[in-house]
Amino acid sequence: MMDRMESRFSAYTDKPKDDGIGKSEYDTITVKNVIISGSMVEEIVKNNNLQNYKITQFNKAYYNDLVESFDEITTWSKKDRALLSSEQFFSLEVEKHQVSKRKDTIKVLFKRKLDNKFIETVLMRFEDGRNTVCVSCMVGCPVNCTFCATGKLGFNGNLNAKEIVDQIMYFARYLKKENAKITNVVYMGMGEPMLNLENVQKSIEVLTDENKFGLGGRRITVSTSGYVAQFNKLVSDGFRGRVAISLHAPNQALREQLMPVAKAYSLDQVMEALDNYVTLTNKRVSYEYILIDGVNDSEQNALELSDLLKNRLAHVNLIPYNPIDGVMYKRSTQENIQLFSKILKQKGINYSLRVTMGDDINAACGQLAGLNLAPKT
Ligand code: SF4
Repeated sequence: MMDRMESRFSAYTDKPKDDGIGKSEYDTITVKNVIISGSMVEEIVKNNNLQNYKITQFNKAYYNDLVESFDEITTWSKKDRALLSSEQFFSLEVEKHQVSKRKDTIKVLFKRKLDNKFIETVLMRFEDGRNTVCVSCMVGCPVNCTFCATGKLGFNGNLNAKEIVDQIMYFARYLKKENAKITNVVYMGMGEPMLNLENVQKSIEVLTDENKFGLGGRRITVSTSGYVAQFNKLVSDGFRGRVAISLHAPNQALREQLMPVAKAYSLDQVMEALDNYVTLTNKRVSYEYILIDGVNDSEQNALELSDLLKNRLAHVNLIPYNPIDGVMYKRSTQENIQLFSKILKQKGINYSLRVTMGDDINAACGQLAGLNLAPKT
């Protein structure tokens, strides 16, 4: 049954228009009952003349104790809880919950209650104890990087802030059963965070608010494929978390070939924006570099990349390409991966060779394509 919010949104299930700066038709609608924006509970408390400490009680139950329904907020009386009855507790439905063979990766296919479209979220459990959630911020993605499964889906809508936070709440509740916690959040799932900036920023506010989810800012990483104007806005608005740039090519020509965004924002502009971020924050930037056989994995490419990052506060994540249906690219050979890494090492560039996690459930980098996995109706 559709709740109040969903019925208000039902007229907007068509593909929203993207104006290229992160606004879509969805954004023009006021999401009244976005609990996690912080205003809903405050509003309810104010409008019903409840004492302010009710807000603290709510936040503790919701974000700390990780209740599974409003009914479990027993610090609120039954009468007070009734005030929440028309609000949405969870904005997503779990369609599929897949665990990788090594049990280190869990991928969930969620269906939005808003419009029944699908998104994917991944939890990565590292041996060192980190539990990192990779969140989606869009259904599909308009950027269309040539190597990416999500890009092949096209753009099917921005997620609102509650939907972004709910992906994390799902895994927080899941881990609670094992006495474990989420330690890191990366905005590297489906979608380009800079093109849904407002909702991404709102979700970060909730995650880092010490009265709410309470995650340290440095435990949040936002990625971008290179939308410079929006990235500059994020930084000037005060974002001090970590940043990852999908670089994938060490020069302008190759970058344009792999990523259409490079035509809008040149590599020089991207590097300038990142340099400003480093000056402000003194935090190193992660440079994501997918190694594709015969495309960007030559000795020359490694040397160019080393030159580009020389004297910069940088860490390169080398990611052997994960094949996807309908794309001709192949993973670099072991020999080329080793040679590429060796050159970076010789040139004094910090790097890691990413261990591929979850490729048996298509949860590895660039493989998220929720719509394709959705049950056919
Ligand atoms: S790599 Fe990121 S920005 Fe590029 S198409 Fe995929 S999801 Fe979009």
